[in-house]
Amino acid sequence: MNRFWSPIVQTLTPYVPGEQPKQTDLIKLNTNENPYPPSPRALQAMAAEAAESLRLYPDPNADRLKQAIADFHGVTPAQVFVGNGSDEVLAHTFLGLLKHDLPLLFPDISYSFYPVYSGLYEIDFVQVPLTEAFEIDPQDYQMANGGIIFPNPNAPTGRLLPLAAIETILQNNPDSVVVVDEAYIDFGGESAVALVDRYANLLVIQTLSKSRSLAGLRVGFAVGDEGLIEALERIKNSFNSYPLDRFAISGAVAAMEDRAYFSDTCQRVISTREQLAERLGELGFQVLPSAANFLFVRHPEQDGAELAARLREQSIIVRHFRQPRIDQFLRITVGTDEQSRLLLEALRQILA
Ligand SMILES: *Cc1c(COP(=O)(O)O)cnc(C)c1O
Repeated sequence: MNRFWSPIVQTLTPYVPGEQPKQTDLIKLNTNENPYPPSPRALQAMAAEAAESLRLYPDPNADRLKQAIADFHGVTPAQVFVGNGSDEVLAHTFLGLLKHDLPLLFPDISYSFYPVYSGLYEIDFVQVPLTEAFEIDPQDYQMANGGIIFPNPNAPTGRLLPLAAIETILQNNPDSVVVVDEAYIDFGGESAVALVDRYANLLVIQTLSKSRSLAGLRVGFAVGDEGLIEALERIKNSFNSYPLDRFAISGAVAAMEDRAYFSDTCQRVISTREQLAERLGELGFQVLPSAANFLFVRHPEQDGAELAARLREQSIIVRHFRQPRIDQFLRITVGTDEQSRLLLEALRQILA
């Protein structure tokens, strides 16, 4: 508390990101970064931006990037919004499309930034419990609401909701904006972008942080009906005219265009995930089905927090959430095959 703070600041409970250790010899499986480097074409494009032209502002509308995303997804640039990480896109979405008199709905176990944005923008919300199997049940999203948001695949569970179930939610809520946060969709799911031309109330948000190995660049985007996109543009142009710098625009364009590299690295992560899930199962872990670049697991005989601490002693960091229903689980990012091998070796020692 500080007497100079605005009243709202005193009420905030900020988001706490996963640890970004200064120590570099750790096996870092805690924040769902991609183990592979960005596309070489993206790196080259960014290197070329380190030039005299940096004295000029970037394109405030990032038109080249909107075009590249539109080309990738088969939509028009007017259906695309870009921002400084999908966290910024989400922030503008909360203020511009999800703040209404009726409460916003999202799952009880979900991305922990949602309650934080709701606090910042003073949005009333209801956390809808996932089923016993940690699934989203579309029938649970029928109550009166001012908007709906959920990640797909969900985080931190990794469970995927099929497009047919998303359509059920859209059809049951024609007067609400339904936001699908697809941070992990490229690791095995089908994108709801396929539905945006049929549902004017659907907004799909994606990021280049995970499947395109660019968490350090901070680029995210939304795809939806032009009317929804216009709301986000109005917020953005009332907040920061230049959210994407010259490096981000050029690097992101090249990353979107390098489809071969993208599908190759996604495929490698998927294959490592499937093998790791099988090996963890053999060690007695319960492993939730995952369509993401992480696994959500618990061991019936090991306390979650303690297991995370014992892994940390062996220089492996994973994510543990001190939160009802999931405090016995660990969220483990899928790394390289070699990182999986080291993780399994450490777990075998701990369990012995
Ligand atoms: C990682 C993540 C984001 C944020 O991604 P950035 O683009 O890096 O801000 C958003 N939603 C979910 C569910 C995520 O896991």
